[in-house]
Amino acid sequence: MGLNVNSILLIGPPGCGKSMLAQRLPGLLPPLSESEALEVAAIASVSAAGFRGPAVRPFRAPHHSTTVPALVGGGARARPGEVSLAHRGVLFLDELPEFGRGVLEALREPLETGVIQVARAALQTQYPAEFQLIAAMNPCPCGGRGDPQRSCRCTPALLRRYHARLSGPLLDRLDLQVEVPRLAGEAFDAPPGEALDSATAAQLAGRARALQLARAGLCNARLAEAQAGRWCVPDAAGRRVLETAMRRLKLSGRARSRVLRVARTIADLEERPAIGAKQVAEALLLRCLDRAAPGG
Ligand SMILES: [Zn+2]
Repeated sequence: MGLNVNSILLIGPPGCGKSMLAQRLPGLLPPLSESEALEVAAIASVSAAGFRGPAVRPFRAPHHSTTVPALVGGGARARPGEVSLAHRGVLFLDELPEFGRGVLEALREPLETGVIQVARAALQTQYPAEFQLIAAMNPCPCGGRGDPQRSCRCTPALLRRYHARLSGPLLDRLDLQVEVPRLAGEAFDAPPGEALDSATAAQLAGRARALQLARAGLCNARLAEAQAGRWCVPDAAGRRVLETAMRRLKLSGRARSRVLRVARTIADLEERPAIGAKQVAEALLLRCLDRAAPGG
């Protein structure tokens, strides 16, 4: 995928522009190749809605009341679910903690493997499910936490329950955790030239993607563990930053591997051969683990 990461969690107050950011992402990705367009059309043609063409990068945004079969597929005809309808595109889950526990757990398999097994009676069907996950959540249930214009009325117990809805194993599988301040909504109206415009961002992402394909034949996020061990190795300074963070933030092995892939991608965006301390620190910062945690 163009942005070279599988998944991102946006944390910000209501109305800060999380949905707008998510909707913009398909436009930053390169157009579907011929074979990708065929895959997208094939999945759509066996879906309940059918294929209405032309095939474009999908953007799927199921509501938080969605069920496990609706998300991963199933039913009497073993139809593809949202994760497969989002194949080669974007799956946007707004209000992530409001999704059912079973629904969130069902995301782990496709996030890990890019495919989903759909069972129907004794029959097993497999659908592709390589999507870019964009999840969004409020910093707290009332939405006031961290907002300079409002105050949070949530009790510590309520905050704990809200964050506990997201299991550690799921959070581990999210590459980036980014805090979106309320300002971001207004920034969309800023005059062009103030920030990276979409065309330039798409160009940068395309160059980094080409570098990755030339190096390993895959995007960094899709590298197998052994390949990541070969290509996503920090230099001595980078390793020191990483080891310190591992200890202080109590990162799991999986989280460490995710951080290194993101650091590799940052180095690719900067067209640097080595993963240094700066790239590791940026990747760690993007996880925002400490800020996402309740009571911090
Ligand atoms: Zn609150």
